Amino acid sequence: MTNDSTTDTTGPVRIDDLPIREELRGQSPYGAPQLDVPVRLNTNENPYPLPDALVDRIAERVREAARELNRYPDRDAVELRTGLAGYLSRTAGHEVTTAQVWAANGSNEVIQQLMQAFGGPGRTAIGFEPSYSMHALIARGTGTGWISGPRNEDFTIDVEAAKKAIAEHRPNVVFITSPNNPTGTAVDADTVLALYDAAQAARPSLVVVDEAYGEFSHRPSLLPLIGGRPHMVLSRTMSKAFGAAGLRLGYLAADAAVVDAVQLVRLPYHLSSVTQATALAALEHTDTLLGYVERLKSERDRIVAELRALGYEVTESDANFVQFGRFEDSRAVWRAILDRGVLVRDNGVPGWLRVTAGTPAENDAFLDAVREIKKEHDA
Ligand SMILES: *Cc1c(COP(=O)(O)O)cnc(C)c1O
Repeated sequence: MTNDSTTDTTGPVRIDDLPIREELRGQSPYGAPQLDVPVRLNTNENPYPLPDALVDRIAERVREAARELNRYPDRDAVELRTGLAGYLSRTAGHEVTTAQVWAANGSNEVIQQLMQAFGGPGRTAIGFEPSYSMHALIARGTGTGWISGPRNEDFTIDVEAAKKAIAEHRPNVVFITSPNNPTGTAVDADTVLALYDAAQAARPSLVVVDEAYGEFSHRPSLLPLIGGRPHMVLSRTMSKAFGAAGLRLGYLAADAAVVDAVQLVRLPYHLSSVTQATALAALEHTDTLLGYVERLKSERDRIVAELRALGYEVTESDANFVQFGRFEDSRAVWRAILDRGVLVRDNGVPGWLRVTAGTPAENDAFLDAVREIKKEHDA
């Protein structure tokens, strides 16, 4: 007897041989290349290792936590959320309470939980591209339809076109990334409000402001906009400004009801005791960490100025990275920079590349590389 569903066992099994969800067939996972080169300026990491005093404090706090690892962590992470609420209230221009803050393993998990609660099958989300590709990938992973919204030539959001797209598609979730990745472009409060109003006019929908790079911006945080707007969410992370990408700690601030809503979909005990202890230690050293942010901002401004002096086009940046171009063949320029020992990012934006602000020495290596390439090109 033959069985039609028997899989051919010659050769390795591929993803598409599995009984996988249809919409995942032929897709590839998120991934910036992690190449072993001297200067890595491709994933917007903070180049400064955590200061020794903080490393010691983490060891102390984790040691305490380790004594109780036989128990599940605080499911609601109350002490940590209180600390994060205090940090936002002090630095982001708007008072928030513990009940208004939620934390998870990176802002990616925060966004995934939001999409599990507010997106899902039969629902859609919109983002204005080019933007952070994880928004679309998390939409895919949660069965949420994705709509790619427009931007202007200069990478600011085209407000009229965006309002039109929202009115036409009536999305359930709207993503606004400020400063935007990979372009560095900040979004002004008026634009966020215009899109919020357009979205609410189309249907009651969640507006998620992804402020992963908020601390690097010249402009004030958009946090105050959550006041009186229960459908507005602000997300932040310790991955960039806090120099703790390896920690995996992201958080949101919103109306307390939004925090209640994500608790319907979060896994119980999602945030380990070790993570909570480490993040609490980081919050004790906020002033030192924000000092590094100031250094990175001035390095960012130096990269912008030097690239412009070399004749490159540079997109205005409020983040810890810079988008520069324009290139007929950005892939070839990416490769030429890599050949000189510096890894930058090709985000697939035609004509443009992105470089993360590193230490002064790393930035010099990058600037030397592009100077050389420019000279060869112009020769
Ligand atoms: C880096 C980045 C994040 C951070 O994700 P984590 O999961 O917190 O590391 C979120 N949003 C944007 C736009 C980013 O560039």
